[in-house]
Amino acid sequence: MEEDEQDQVSSLPRWVLLEYSQMLKLAGKDSTVAFTHLSKSSCAALDRALTENHPSKDSSSTASFESHTISILELMKTRNVPLERVCLLDPKAPQELGPDDGNGKFEWFLFGGILGDDPPRDRTGELRSLGFPTRHLGPVQMTTDTALGVTKLIVEDKNTLSGIPYLDHPTIRFSKTESVEMPFRYIMRDGEPVLPPGMKQHFYEDLNRVFDD
Ligand code: SAM
Repeated sequence: MEEDEQDQVSSLPRWVLLEYSQMLKLAGKDSTVAFTHLSKSSCAALDRALTENHPSKDSSSTASFESHTISILELMKTRNVPLERVCLLDPKAPQELGPDDGNGKFEWFLFGGILGDDPPRDRTGELRSLGFPTRHLGPVQMTTDTALGVTKLIVEDKNTLSGIPYLDHPTIRFSKTESVEMPFRYIMRDGEPVLPPGMKQHFYEDLNRVFDD
């Protein structure tokens, strides 16, 4: 988990809450998204944000969720899920994720819930070293919610990786003079990057905070 002193109230940074909430939306109503290896206070903050007061919460169309203090390996043990049934989404994987990977080969899809770095520092390597089978989603790093959304479009909706429209490193404009470039690949809809609701406003506030500091 990423820590952020700016957000003492919820104990989780706002971008994490927005991205994690978006994951429930992108996974869709028939899935469960499990967040693992959280501190107790982060578990409570996430439960609160995802059940009560998040703007994108709509229980009829979003996935259900679980939050855990235990690690992914411990969760697999308690649920009797063997290593070979968990697919790690890994930018360095030799094999691309394809629609066939959704046909019962894997029970769970695993993502690093971590902040992307520019340039990437291969923090997914920590999960890779545990020995999971891996698949990649192309050469450009995605935000974690985008990676989950693309995985769903491939394994459930049977799109191919190359059939999904993307925007790489989009510039988010706030005004004529203020903008920020995001070092990620996003799904594109109507010519715009698909961002979690509230994220653009958060970027803007963050930008102003940096200048104020
Ligand atoms: N900078 C991180 C790294 O170097 O590993 C990537 C962080 S990315 C924001 C968070 C997670 O999304 C990764 O751990 C991975 O599970 C998934 N992900 C993002 N882009 C991906 C890609 N192109 N292929 C496969 N998985 C990806």
